Amino acid sequence: MTRLLITLLLVVIPVAGSAETPMLVIHGGAGTIRRGSMTPEREKQYRDGLEQSLRAGHAVLQRGGSSLDAVEAAIRVLEDNPLFNAGKGAVFTHDGRNELDASIMDGRTRAAGAIAGVTIIRNPITAARAVMERSEHVMMVGKGAELFATKMGLEIVDPSYFWTEHRWKALQRELTKDDKKFGTVGAVAVDKAGNLAAGTSTGGMTNKQYGRVGDAPIIGAGTFADNESVAVSATGHGEYFIRWTVASDIAALVKYRGMTVQAAADEVINKKLKAVKGEGGVIALDAKGNFATPFNTEGMYRGWIGPDGVPRVSIYGE
Ligand code: ASP
Repeated sequence: MTRLLITLLLVVIPVAGSAETPMLVIHGGAGTIRRGSMTPEREKQYRDGLEQSLRAGHAVLQRGGSSLDAVEAAIRVLEDNPLFNAGKGAVFTHDGRNELDASIMDGRTRAAGAIAGVTIIRNPITAARAVMERSEHVMMVGKGAELFATKMGLEIVDPSYFWTEHRWKALQRELTKDDKKFGTVGAVAVDKAGNLAAGTSTGGMTNKQYGRVGDAPIIGAGTFADNESVAVSATGHGEYFIRWTVASDIAALVKYRGMTVQAAADEVINKKLKAVKGEGGVIALDAKGNFATPFNTEGMYRGWIGPDGVPRVSIYGE
């Protein structure tokens, strides 16, 4: 009897990792979360921001839209929110500028687009998508990417748009001590047609050098999507994620070793990266709607929304 009840409960209560479609999973970064310094008000703001992003992406999926559209919609909401390190809330470089990186990938065709080191594009994820769909290239950087985005009619802003007081103060703090801080936003989705997509957008790491590019715009490191394996978006100390080709390694473990999403993502984040002190986490999702959100930091802003349309968000290890 008890067994039957438990089985019934497991069937009706959707839990993290349960296989349902359409499904959208997002993250809002893993690097700056300290339970001790979080106030209830601030935590609520983060939770609200994540829920808003989940609802925007879910609306797209629910009306039969593509996972690419859902990923872009969810990330744009996070880019426009000053709390997250992407778009409006981007961190500062060592010399006090905001240089943004982003990428997106279509799991159906393995088409991909990325931009890096841009300073005037309001929504970098949309620029990455424009590179994918409206150029012959996969990656564009700096002035060339900005010129391309301008020509494509994307929203251009003055660099001062990205100035926020809390990020400025974070830079001042880090100029006095060497404490690497990161944060990023990302989304992975599977749509009603069973197609996967992934996207990632970031201001990078506070106090980074002028011209430094992290893993977020690098396909196979910070972002990857292939219908035959998984969609992945990463957040963390980018240099490690590039060297360990994190996103494609997870996909390879699923594809060639037949591992589950959970096992593959855990293996890379909690074993391989942890062993070398590479801090961060990922969200990973397969075409059936199985997903995992492992991280080896104190917390990772994250959330998911399935066919029931109820957003679920988490910050720490709960
Ligand atoms: N991975 C990003 C980078 O290294 C930062 C982050 O995820 O927070 O640029």
